Amino acid sequence: MNSVKLLIGGNEGNRLKNMQEVKVLIGTRIGKIIKRSSCYESEPWGFAHQQNFLNQVLEVSTVLSVTEILTVGQQIEKELGRKPKTQDGYEGRTMDIDILFFNDEIINLPQLTVPHPKIQERRFTLLPLAEKWSALVHPVLGNTMRMLLDECKDTGWVRIAP
Ligand code: ADP
Ligand code: MG
Repeated sequence: MNSVKLLIGGNEGNRLKNMQEVKVLIGTRIGKIIKRSSCYESEPWGFAHQQNFLNQVLEVSTVLSVTEILTVGQQIEKELGRKPKTQDGYEGRTMDIDILFFNDEIINLPQLTVPHPKIQERRFTLLPLAEKWSALVHPVLGNTMRMLLDECKDTGWVRIAP
């Protein structure tokens, strides 16, 4: 069995419904969700936009390979109404599924970098990781999630969703 940590979230459409649906689809197509953070709300990052984001980290036990998880995740994003990118960089979306960690492996493929390269830059990723996986060591940076959160310079607000 493989262990994958996924960051799920979005800011467009019915955010709560999308968060419920994505977990059902992940459970049936990727594997059993064995641990989950709280659901966090954050302000749009790097661009002025409509609704705030909801984000959550899930740990999923799976028989799939990491490239299979990427493909299945992108299919689920599409089914939840994700539109192709209109610009470079970060923008609004109904659902994003990012692969944060896959076991403790380091993967560098043209279409896939794991651990996800932005983990240490984003409080909306580090807060849920530090909540439930505080002692987890980043296989590239060598720091725990707690240490990465303490060192993070991101000033955007993030709170547990009301
Ligand atoms: P972003 O999440 O950066 O806003 P997208 O969700 O549109 O952007 O993803 C863009 C590309 O990032 C995907 O087509 C995928 O191939 C690539 N990618 C690289 N590493 C990862 C990862 N760890 N998790 C998810 N996608 C990744
Ligand atoms: Mg993504």
